[in-house]
This record gives sequence, C-alpha cells and structure tokens, in this order.
Amino acid sequence: MRERAERVSATGNSAESERGSAKRAGRAATGADGPATAAGGAGGARAESRLGMVRRARKINRALADVYYYAHPELDFENPFELLVATVLSAQTTDLRVNQTTPRLFAAYPTPEDMATADPAKLEEIIRPTGFFRSKAKALLGISVALRDRFGGEVPGRLEDLVSLPGVGRKTAHVVLGNAFGRPGITVDTHFQRLVRRWRWTEQKDPEKIEAEVAEIFPKKEWTMLSHRVIFHGRRICHSRKPACGACPIAHLCPSYGEGETDPEKAKKLLKYEMGGYPGQRLKPPADFPGKAAPPLGAA
Ligand code: SF4
Repeated sequence: MRERAERVSATGNSAESERGSAKRAGRAATGADGPATAAGGAGGARAESRLGMVRRARKINRALADVYYYAHPELDFENPFELLVATVLSAQTTDLRVNQTTPRLFAAYPTPEDMATADPAKLEEIIRPTGFFRSKAKALLGISVALRDRFGGEVPGRLEDLVSLPGVGRKTAHVVLGNAFGRPGITVDTHFQRLVRRWRWTEQKDPEKIEAEVAEIFPKKEWTMLSHRVIFHGRRICHSRKPACGACPIAHLCPSYGEGETDPEKAKKLLKYEMGGYPGQRLKPPADFPGKAAPPLGAA
C-alpha cells in the first residue's frame, strides 16, 4: 500500500520534507549515496547505502519518540547551575545516585558564590555518595570560583565559555546547553556511543567524531531530544552486556538484533526503570513520566 505522502512524524516533520533532507544528509558525508556500510534490517545481510542508513536512522528516532514520548534529562535540577553541578557529579555513577545527593548539596550551596567558599571537607562529605568525591569536590570548587570571578556568578550559555570552565568537556557542556538553555546539542555518553555503533550510524569511536557524524544525519532541532531518546533506550532496553532484543520496539530496524536475549519472556525480565515496572531515576520527574518517582537517599 502506498505510504501517505504527508504523514506527520512524531518529531513534527512531514515524511515528505524528511525524505528531502534525508537525501541531503545522505549525500553530506560521501558526496553521493556512498559505499555500503552496514547490513540492512534485523539480521539481514543486504548491503545498505548511506541514504538507506540515514532513512533507517530517522525511522529509529521517530520510533523512539513514540516509545519514549516522555524522554527527558534524568538529573533533577531547577536552574543552569544545578544542572551543571549535577552533570559533573554524574561521572562514574548513576543519575539516580546524583539525584539522591543533590537536594542536600543545593540546600547548603544554592549559588556559585556559596559553593566557591565552601569548606572542602564539608563539600566532600555531602557529595561522597556519588563516588570520586575528592576530585569531584575539587572540580565543583574550581567551577564555582570561575563562575563567580569570570561570569558574574551565572552559568554561561555558550559552548566555548562552558568548556573553558575547569573540568567541563563537550559532553557536560551539551547537556547544559540543550537542557538549561534550549540550544541543540548531541550528548555522546557511553550509551549513545554503544547504540549508534550497534545501529551502524557510525563506525567512529572518538566521541567528537561520533558527534560530528550523527549531526550529519539529523536536523539540528532534533539533537537534544534524540540524545535523550537514545540514552533512555540504552538504559532501559539496549544494555551494554545483555540487550533485551526480544522486547525491543526497534528490533526490525536494528542490524545488531540478536546481540542480546531474543526470547520475549526472558527479554522482558531484563527491562529497567519504568519499562520493567521499577521507579525512574528522578526524585522529581516531569508530569508526563509514566513511572514512579525515585526514592530519596537511604529509602531503598
Ligand atoms: S536491544 Fe537488540 S534489537 Fe534493540 S536496539 Fe539493542 S541490539 Fe538492537
């Protein structure tokens, strides 16, 4: 049956306009449709053109937008400073553990000026549950001093300023820009890196190169929500060691189907957070979150 020409996608783009821009993105990296880079479809061995990959990538994004219509940053924050601090604390730990730690931290040090003059030992004690607390305390003190002295106590809204803060890299900067300033950015964390390679969107391993190649596939306005959806999928279904392929809503679009558990019943048991019937990571989730709020520190 002929596909409806003007089907409106979950991202608000018409299928027609997406086809045109998919063709442009398909040409962008190779100058033409390019050589085949991936097997096509679930378990298939058919060669796939660059244009085919771009179309498949955009279908994955639309499917994820349907499944994770409530995708959001999983750190609790009320302002750019809190998001910056929470993102720094999220290294090497879960967003849940950060969210359980920050209420006490932000009550003690609500502004960069407050945190810049914190007693290091007290700061370390408060953030201890997030791990690596000595180096994280040092980073937070350095950032707070820089914000106070160089940016008038405000978090800057430009990438070049954010990455000039001590210990702040592109990943942290994009999280802050995308979610506190509404400036589109691609967040290449460990989940994003794993999933985009499983989907053959890129073969790159360096986060900056991954960011650049994925940016060629999607319109800029999609970048922030795309990042959330991919990370949501990585945390809930497409896990590092045991992806739940048998319970995966995009299995038909994935060249790596079968890398994990394919039995639907067994796969269902691997689902995490609200997908598995458990609480999410935020203590204060957005209103449309379909799961339960996470418990405070020590409650579970
Ligand atoms: S869970 Fe399996 S089928 Fe789904 S995206 Fe991951 S590897 Fe692909």
